[in-house]
Amino acid sequence: MSKGNIGVTSDNIFPVIKKFLYSDHEIFLRELISNAVDATTKLKTLSSVGEVKGDLGDLRVRVSIDKKKKTLTVSDHGIGMTAEEVDKFINQIAFSGAEEFLNQYKDKAEAIIGHFGLGFYSAFMVSKKVEIFSQSYKEDAKAVHWSCEGNPEYTMEDTIKAERGTDIVLHIDDEFQQYLEDATIEGLLKKYCKFLPVEIAFGKKKEWKDGKEVELDEENIINDINPAWTRKPADLKDEDYDKFYHELYPMQFEQPLFHIHLNVDYPFNLTGILYFPKIKSNLDVHRNKIQLYCNQVYVTDEVENIVPEYLTLLHGVIDSPDIPLNVSRSYLQSDNNVKKISGYITKKVADKLAELYKADKDEFAKKWDDIKMFIQFGMLTDEKFYEKATGFALLKNLDGKYATLDEYKEQVKDAQTDKDGNLVLLYTNDPDAHYSYIERAKAKGYDVLLMDGELDVHCMSQAEQKNEKLRFVRIDSDIIENLIKKEDAAKDTYSDEQKEGLRKAFEAQLPSDADKLKYTVTCEAAAADALPVFLTQNEFMRRMKEMSAHQQGMSFYGQMPDSYNLVLNTNHPLIQELVTKETSEEVSEEQEKDGKKETVVKTVYKLDGENERLKQLIDIALLASGQLKGEALAKFVNRSVELL
Ligand code: ADP
Repeated sequence: MSKGNIGVTSDNIFPVIKKFLYSDHEIFLRELISNAVDATTKLKTLSSVGEVKGDLGDLRVRVSIDKKKKTLTVSDHGIGMTAEEVDKFINQIAFSGAEEFLNQYKDKAEAIIGHFGLGFYSAFMVSKKVEIFSQSYKEDAKAVHWSCEGNPEYTMEDTIKAERGTDIVLHIDDEFQQYLEDATIEGLLKKYCKFLPVEIAFGKKKEWKDGKEVELDEENIINDINPAWTRKPADLKDEDYDKFYHELYPMQFEQPLFHIHLNVDYPFNLTGILYFPKIKSNLDVHRNKIQLYCNQVYVTDEVENIVPEYLTLLHGVIDSPDIPLNVSRSYLQSDNNVKKISGYITKKVADKLAELYKADKDEFAKKWDDIKMFIQFGMLTDEKFYEKATGFALLKNLDGKYATLDEYKEQVKDAQTDKDGNLVLLYTNDPDAHYSYIERAKAKGYDVLLMDGELDVHCMSQAEQKNEKLRFVRIDSDIIENLIKKEDAAKDTYSDEQKEGLRKAFEAQLPSDADKLKYTVTCEAAAADALPVFLTQNEFMRRMKEMSAHQQGMSFYGQMPDSYNLVLNTNHPLIQELVTKETSEEVSEEQEKDGKKETVVKTVYKLDGENERLKQLIDIALLASGQLKGEALAKFVNRSVELL
């Protein structure tokens, strides 16, 4: 038996490990199992190059709990360690055996996990004593027993071990007794080891029989050693991808919309499958996240810095040994590999979407409503993605027809280009509320888009910035004749003075002072068969207000009250009648001019008193826009009855 001090420079590293190093104590299990899997993979590699002869036998890694002894054991049948190796790899903490092995067998060892930093020593986070029993694959090697009680002293002695490989025995600390519970350990194994490349067994399979859970003879294998992302896309059918999706997210019952298989080995190594999920509600969005693996070992589902933000809404897995693990977030952001990975994923996702659109436009259109949010989010936040996405980002019109912006521009350009050469795209976010406006637009042969998504306003503004002479206007933002101005626009025959009188007369009949601020009365020469009075809402102001709801630094717009135009249609017979009869009268006045008395005829506007007809017309406009409520609505109803 030998004794010694662990080769660390600081006096006692164990308290550090225990308290500060890992905030997640549970990862000790991942580290130990990764080592066991590594040792097994190394053995297979040695066997494949002929350095280990004969049948390798049972290679399962087993995890077991002894409740009486309060131990948790991880056993493998990998390469094992000689006493010298334990001294070198375990006692000299800075040595990473994996690294040395990798250098030696660079091209053959495909899957060496060992990038997690402290690895083995994380066992001390939860143990008061750790023992190693190891038998190396090397001929004539003696088995070794190493033991350490969480201080820099260890003991090492020869022992007898029947089988090749390593048992790591953790004497679990009193404060971590949860790691002696089957359910806790099974949960951790499912979390970290579900897709490891070597079988991990934990206890026996169980089955429900006659209302009781009975243990079967068969071992309970935790993992799928060939998860879909490690296989060739050519070998997989759609069903395999769907099956894997449910393996990843057992609580998700919806099918994904489609998947993207990632596979790159230069300039970095990355595999994975991303799924476009069907999202039912906002609550669903972050329930299932993309999982990051390193050579099939689960690392995290916090991938914010590795995939572009808009793609964090996707589901699936990314596996890359080239992503630095256990490093700070800010470091991740500046890491070149990580930047490249993010760029690659963006490109791959965009290419796949373009390919799907090209292959079957109708099928793609059917999925559009479900994937729209990802794509718009991407277009708004990632310039590169925007460029590619213009080829498959769709607009939907009120007939439920879909087209890309370029396709749509072609379709409507003849009818909807105004006299100044602007192409005006009309939209509604609420077809019911805008019914009459939509009818008027359709009567003119215009098409109306449905823009009721949360990001639509932002995307329209973006499209306007990127496309010269393109404007989106909501169907109720002005009279249709003004939205798309043509050379032959209708005109009226009223003088400015008459219009001003009309305006003032209506303004005087607005129910309250607050309403006078909210509604600006204007005169417009709309079509004779349009309503006599109606509301419009300025596109710019309304859009700024909507956008400010999502954007910081725009609260100025957000605080502005809603404002509307109350439009008097000067071509409507009712309004024409009012101009002469109700709003003004001609009054003759005696005036002195140049010493002579003269009779002048003046138009005097009637602003005082209640004018039931004007009130009725205003209320009709408010009613048509869904703004007549409560007392005002009741008054309107009563007045209507009286007028009848
Ligand atoms: P890392 O795995 O990052 O190299 P560890 O501290 O986890 O760091 O392990 C140090 C070394 O100890 C490993 O590289 C390996 O050579 C050796 N080792 C640890 N566990 C085992 C095991 N179960 N079987 C064989 N060797 C092991």
